[in-house]
Amino acid sequence: MVFKAEGICPKCKSKGKQVSKDSMLHHVDDISYIKEQFDYYICKNALCEVVYFNILNEYLYTHLNKEVGYKSFSTSNANICYCYNIKKQDLNEHTIGIIETKMDEYPCACEVRNPYGSCCRKEIKKLMKEKIERG
Ligand SMILES: [Zn+2]
Repeated sequence: MVFKAEGICPKCKSKGKQVSKDSMLHHVDDISYIKEQFDYYICKNALCEVVYFNILNEYLYTHLNKEVGYKSFSTSNANICYCYNIKKQDLNEHTIGIIETKMDEYPCACEVRNPYGSCCRKEIKKLMKEKIERG
């Protein structure tokens, strides 16, 4: 029997963060199977193929209508900032500054545009740290 628990990623077993159905409707390629009665979660483990899941099903990164730059296997052309179109390949301290300046001038809409349904800054800083550590 496959172990399944509410809010726990069925693939990597890490704890998911609940995500709104609006996020799902924006980012999943086929919305037919999104059910009102379930709670959906996002798996933030960069090495895990699962992006969204509920107690019964999962949506892999291939089931989204855009690339998720925070997943380690996404291409360098994937977005890491979905509000101001910053790609993974452009990630550096300078771009983080650009994002922050833009956020002051043109408020971000991460809850709508970012597949994680939350602000990109935390994820970007995590990626930046990994990049520095890799050298
Ligand atoms: Zn996972």
